[in-house]
Amino acid sequence: MEKKVLVLAEIREGEIRNVSFEAIAAAKKVANGGEVVGLLLGERVSHLTKELIQHGADRVITVEDRNLNVYTTDAYLQAIIQVIDYEKPEGFILGHTAIGKDVSPRIAAKLKTGLISDAVSVEVVGEEVLFTRPIYSGKAFEKKIVQEGIVFATIRPNNIQPLDKEPSRTGHVTSIAVDIKDLRTIVKDIVRKTTSGIDLSEAKVIVSGGRGVKNAEGFKPLQELANVLGGAVGASRGACDADYCDYSMQIGQTGKVVTPDLYIACGISGAIQHVAGMSNSKVIIAINKDPEAPIFSIADYGIVGDLFEVVPMLTEEIKNL
Ligand code: FAD
Repeated sequence: MEKKVLVLAEIREGEIRNVSFEAIAAAKKVANGGEVVGLLLGERVSHLTKELIQHGADRVITVEDRNLNVYTTDAYLQAIIQVIDYEKPEGFILGHTAIGKDVSPRIAAKLKTGLISDAVSVEVVGEEVLFTRPIYSGKAFEKKIVQEGIVFATIRPNNIQPLDKEPSRTGHVTSIAVDIKDLRTIVKDIVRKTTSGIDLSEAKVIVSGGRGVKNAEGFKPLQELANVLGGAVGASRGACDADYCDYSMQIGQTGKVVTPDLYIACGISGAIQHVAGMSNSKVIIAINKDPEAPIFSIADYGIVGDLFEVVPMLTEEIKNL
């Protein structure tokens, strides 16, 4: 059956996040030939509609309101619920991002519906749309279908291939006014803590450091390697706890879950809580001076050696390619 599927397009620093294009690709499958509708929330967003359409949205809804200038749970929840009431979509897909994780359970509660969170793939099998999501910290996967009600899911960044951009694609734009009131929180200021501009959860390459980097200075060679690879720098909790870096860089069970094309773990032992956040990376390289380190059991390539020798050598080699 054809469905109308809504996709929340997230905006960061004036640009649509890649995960939203991935969500459109997932929504196309759920829609089964029906309409995929991008949803843009913000103070001024109409200039972004074209890009959503070029990436596969059939129509875009804009909701322009000064209360939506930056994300707050209250304002987004009110706006999204009003759009859903008005549009009555049969599906709704968001990125499994900080925003998606925060707002989607609240929407599910308001709509009295279920939610498939953190899906890593969406496939059409006969009449069913099958979502796959990791469980037990990534040690197993479960497959889910929605039997009744709205098909509501969040998708993990970097797992679903976005559609190719088609510059000639056209589509309609609808503007909806919402009534946002009784806000309990307002954002006064946003303090950026990440060192590079690349978002860890969307980075294609991550160079990560653990307690083996020894101190904050020890992250420098890792940052240089990340720079030549166009990647971001992450960390284990061991490194964060030791105050070598900020907690915003932590990857793992209680940090960020990442799925880059390439994950380079430097001086990280491979504790299960760290592995939970990176084991689905497409290629894992481990650099550790202990040949018995557990990280080698999940690595595709292992280098036994001192990271302070290996990492600069890798950087030089890659620079010379
Ligand atoms: P270590 O285990 O101390 O390993 C350091 C490694 O560096 C060693 O293998 C050593 O051989 C190697 N090394 C040392 N010097 C060098 C060198 N010069 N060159 C190369 N290698 C070198 N951890 C996370 O990462 N993320 C989480 O989200 C997380 N959540 C947790 C939640 C809970 C509830 C608990 C209990 C723990 C959690 N942890 C998490 C902590 C986790 O259990 C480990 O303690 C932590 O991952 C260890 O960090 P590490 O690998 O950097 O340090």
